[in-house]
Amino acid sequence: MKVMKFGGTSVGRPERMKQVATLVTQQEEPVLVVLSALAGTTNSLVEIGNFLAAGKKQEAAQIIDQLEKHYHSFVEQLVSGKEARQDASQILEEHFGFLRIIQRISFSEALRRDILAQGELLSTKLFGVYCSENKLSHALLPALDFMILDEQDEPAVSVISTRLKALVEANADKKLLITQGYICRNSKGEVDNLKRGGSDYTASLVAAAAGASVCEIWTDIDGMHNNDPRVVEKTFPVEQLSFDEAAELAYFGAKILHPASIWPAQQFQVPVRLLNTMEPRAKGTLISSLPAAPGVKAVAAKDNIIAIRIKSSRMLLAYGFLRKIFEVFEKYRTPIDMITTSEVAVSLTIDTDQHLAAILEELSPFGHVEVDREQTIVSLVGFEITTTPAILSNLALAVKEIPVRMISYGGSPHNISLLVPATAKTKLLQQLNKEIFGLS
Ligand code: ASP
Ligand code: MG
Repeated sequence: MKVMKFGGTSVGRPERMKQVATLVTQQEEPVLVVLSALAGTTNSLVEIGNFLAAGKKQEAAQIIDQLEKHYHSFVEQLVSGKEARQDASQILEEHFGFLRIIQRISFSEALRRDILAQGELLSTKLFGVYCSENKLSHALLPALDFMILDEQDEPAVSVISTRLKALVEANADKKLLITQGYICRNSKGEVDNLKRGGSDYTASLVAAAAGASVCEIWTDIDGMHNNDPRVVEKTFPVEQLSFDEAAELAYFGAKILHPASIWPAQQFQVPVRLLNTMEPRAKGTLISSLPAAPGVKAVAAKDNIIAIRIKSSRMLLAYGFLRKIFEVFEKYRTPIDMITTSEVAVSLTIDTDQHLAAILEELSPFGHVEVDREQTIVSLVGFEITTTPAILSNLALAVKEIPVRMISYGGSPHNISLLVPATAKTKLLQQLNKEIFGLS
């Protein structure tokens, strides 16, 4: 069996959803399809939740109405038979009915998560209606029946595996199984989710749990590119990556795959393929445990980084200083991305200002604290790049006239990261494209 996951844009218009149906039924192996919500839906559901939380019922109602209209016209173009239209209307009735009822009951965080779940429930059910109308034998596997979180809010892999396998077995006569990305149940049995962009994570988890031959992530770009196509002109898809390289790239801003989705595939040895719905024959990117070829595979940039420098002569020849600093970040559950130290100062970066004020306050007794906002981490990722001399000399050319604020080198042999002001990002990515990849 293979897993095929389609993102919001791949099912966001009726004709695209039909293409997905064609694609998944052309496969030789049985397929488990994981779908996101239609493009834009989750954002609308977030807004509805926010308005209801703020007691703004009218504003919430307005978005619900708009969304419902959108779905009605979607359905009209998706299916044409009387029966299919009736089935689809009933589905819309059920889910929009729910959204209307909740406007009358008191708001809670559990309710917010119920609201967020409507997008994937709608997309998979409507896809099912289209399959039925076109006589494509299929079964819907409700993610809420098997995608379970443990008490730490981490996926309970063995429970997921047992339940999913039972469902797959019960539907062994079907070549096409469909389930929802993103949504799950937490340890209290409430509806929950795997955070924004979490459908990739679902795909990787179900591929691992079901022992799939491959986990295909279908989007609207032909794989992971060597550089950010929105910033530099010439880029190319990277054919092959190791899991470690992919994890670094996904984390450091390559927008193509949710970073959490690497570990299940890596641990259970399921290769991941990134493919393009618009160009299904393109090779895409294969991520697997095959040994990586040396050299820089790609550069990625992560924006909205905050750099913090703590200068203190008390650090000189002292021990335990870093521990105390780290404890502050731990207390506020704020991960540190990059770190560099000298004997009397330490610089580090975080990617959220959620607890920044409190963190700065608690750091101040340790020394003089400086903050730089609007920074960008640019990472070079590739096998053993820190021990390849040619790469270092090219990197030196690429940082010409770039005000580099920090460099992280040697933490991993496969990553070199530079922190630069956001305003220098475009120039750096362009210069890297020229000096590292030979593209101008
Ligand atoms: N629909 C969810 C979101 O927009 C999950 C996903 O698409 O991956 O974040
Ligand atoms: Mg996505």
